This record gives sequence, structure tokens and C-alpha cells, in this order.
Amino acid sequence: MSSLWNSVRKISAQTKSFIVPVRYLNLLEYQSKNLLKKNGVAIQDFRMVDENGSQELETFNVNEYVIKAQILAGGRGKGHFDNGFKGGVHITKKRDDISGIINKMLGHKLITKQTPKEGIEVNKIMVAESVNIKRETYLCILMDRQRNGPVIIASPAGGVDIEGVAKNTPHLIRTIPIDIFKGVTDQIADELADFLEFKGELKQKASNEIKQLWKLFLAVDATQLEINPLVETDDNQVISVDAKLNFDDNAKYRQKDIFSLEDVSESDPREVEASKYNLNYIGMTGNIGCLVNGAGLAMATMDIIKLHGGEPANFLDVGGSVKEDQVRAAFKIITSDEKVKAILVNVFGGIVNCATIANGIVGALKTMTLKVPLIVRLEGTNATEARKIIKESGLDIQTAHNLEDAAKKAVASI
Ligand code: GDP
Ligand code: MG
Repeated sequence: MSSLWNSVRKISAQTKSFIVPVRYLNLLEYQSKNLLKKNGVAIQDFRMVDENGSQELETFNVNEYVIKAQILAGGRGKGHFDNGFKGGVHITKKRDDISGIINKMLGHKLITKQTPKEGIEVNKIMVAESVNIKRETYLCILMDRQRNGPVIIASPAGGVDIEGVAKNTPHLIRTIPIDIFKGVTDQIADELADFLEFKGELKQKASNEIKQLWKLFLAVDATQLEINPLVETDDNQVISVDAKLNFDDNAKYRQKDIFSLEDVSESDPREVEASKYNLNYIGMTGNIGCLVNGAGLAMATMDIIKLHGGEPANFLDVGGSVKEDQVRAAFKIITSDEKVKAILVNVFGGIVNCATIANGIVGALKTMTLKVPLIVRLEGTNATEARKIIKESGLDIQTAHNLEDAAKKAVASI
């Protein structure tokens, strides 16, 4: 058991996410802001630029511009580009400077505290009307597992140093649980506006923005809605200057418009493909491709591969109700990965019918030439039938009697 949990930890470290592949949809700032605007939250007017340029920009005339690189990570203001250019957020009053700034961002990688070391390539840029900021506050609504419901986290000291505020001056951060049925009442919104130090007519404005943000949070099935900063401007407005939204994947069926916005260019293409077929797949860095049923068995398989000196290339649980076409898809994803030097199929048929898996594998192999060794261990429901299907296929497949045997053969085959 302990080695199982060790491997859970190792996998978690490798994939930077927990083993259950919940992939909360994440949007770019401009997409989030479109949703904010649609739901009555005050934001800055903006235009978008990509590698094809932007015609709309020519008619965008404001006093001051803010130019913002769009990536699925925060900390842009303090970030830097791989070409040495500093800052993913730039302010200028001069129209003529805009294209120069855009050129230094577009197609270059932005590195921030929240990106991988090598950074993330910028393919879209927002040019917005800059606001004169008097004060930056922080507001975040999120689904909190510990409290079994939503909470609002707020701080009057928002902006790029919010992590430092949380660490050094925790009294400046307040967490308020929200009853999901009662929602954010006038009283809660006013209390929050007070705590965020909005005074006079601004208090009412802030209170209204907070209520609108709550409505948005519910309407779009968000798991997190973070506004940092929520600002007070010198002309007495309350504006959401930055927005980060995550959505509950379980709500995909009723949030089709939002989920269709997903930009998968930053995601692992293997995982994107797998999600189309409802496969629980996490790409990893080793060279033994695994196809397993059940998360527990998947864990144990990876564990035993490691025990025998191998490294798994992926975590793949095809689940209990797997169909042949999913097995075929799983096989295609694994074999399309050039790092994969051997494939190990380990299925214990309970709910799963081993014959379905066998037919899926044979079906997949008929449409491709397999260049790496394939080791199959099928036990349980319909295992005899499954072995027969494999044998009669005439394909070059090694069979194994148990998990240990299968793992040893897979490692040895490389
Ligand atoms: P992040 O660094 O990725 O969180 O990007 P933000 O959109 O939060 O921008 C970072 C910082 O840039 C903000 O905290 C502000 O201090 C500043 N900033 C962003 N937009 C504006 C703007 O329109 N006007 C001014 N004056 N500052 C801005
Ligand atoms: Mg921010």
C-alpha cells in the first residue's frame, strides 16, 4: 500500500495535478471578460489582436491604452518574455507605441510565476482602454470543498502582490462562506464593500458589482471567479480589471457555448484527444504506454512498472463501461506517442468484458502497423474468449499471466 501511495505522490508531482483528471475549463482573460460584460459586470472596453492583426484597432481611440498578453496563467504584469522584453501588461498613451509593444509580445513566450519554466507562447493580445487606478482590491468567489459550498475571499490590498499579502498580512484577507440558496444578500455585499474600503457612493457601486459577480458565478457554473484587481478609479468607478474564471466540467452539458471556447493549444494533445472519448488519461514522461481498467489497477500497474525499473508513459483508465471504439481510440493515442517503446494492457474483467478489450485491440491493430512490443494481461470475465480472439488474430502480441509477469515483460521488451 505504501508504495502505491508513493507512486500517487510521484505521479502527482509529475503531472502537477491530482491523479483524478478533473480538468476544470480555464478561459483566457478576454473570454472571461466577455462573460463578465454579458452579465452586467463593469469592465474596460477592449479590442483583440492576433497574428492576423486587428482592423478594429484602427478605430479604437482612447486617452490611454493597456496592452495585455493573453495566456492561461496569471502574474503577467511581473513576467518577462523569452526575448528579454519585460512585462506582459503595458500601458501607453501613444497610439504609435502599440504596434511595437505587440510585436515584442506576439509569438514570444511569456514566463511568469505561474507558467512552466519555458513560458507560454502568446498568440492573442488584448488592447484595452486603460483606467486610472486609485486603489486595487481583491475578490474571489470559489467552490470550497472543505466548506461544501461557495466562499468569497476578499482583500482591500489586491493587485500583483496578493500572495505576499496572504503570507505577511493575513488580517487583510477575509473569507466569507456563502449559503448557496440565499446567495450574496445585500447585507453580505455591503459588508464586503465596507471591508474592501469602498466609501460613499463607491460603496453602493462596489456592492452592486459584487452581486453581479455572484450572479455570473452561478449562471455559468463556475468553480472559481477571481477578480484581481477589482479597482477604484480616479473618476469614481468600480471596475474588474483582471478576471480569471474556471468552470465545473460536470456542467459541460448545459454550458455548451462556454465549453466551445476552450483553447486547447496549451493542453497536451494526447489528453485533448482522450477527453473526446471520455477516457481518463494523463500524459507522463516515461516510455511504457499503459491501458488499464479502473483507477486502482492503473495505479498499481504504474507502481509495479516502476518497481521493475520502467517508467510509465501515461495513466489511462478506460473505465468499466468501455466500448470497443474507446479501446481503439486509447490505442491510437498511446501508439501516436513517439516516446512509447512498449505497451502494456492490464485488464481485470469484472464489469468489463475482456472480449471487448480484445476486440478493441485487434480492431485497432488492423488499421495500423504496431512498431513496439505489446504485452497483454487479461483476467476475469470472458478472459478465455479474449485470449482466443488475440491468438486467432495472428498478431504479434505477448501474453502475461499476472500483473508482475506483465510488468517484467514490458520492461524487458525495451
Ligand atoms: P496579471 O499580472 O496577470 O494579474 O495581470 P493584471 O491584469 O492583473 O495586471 C497587472 C497589474 O497591471 C494590475 O494589478 C494593475 O496594477 C496594472 N494594470 C492592469 N490594467 C491596468 C489599467 O488599465 N490601468 C492601470 N493604470 N494599471 C493597470
Ligand atoms: Mg491580475
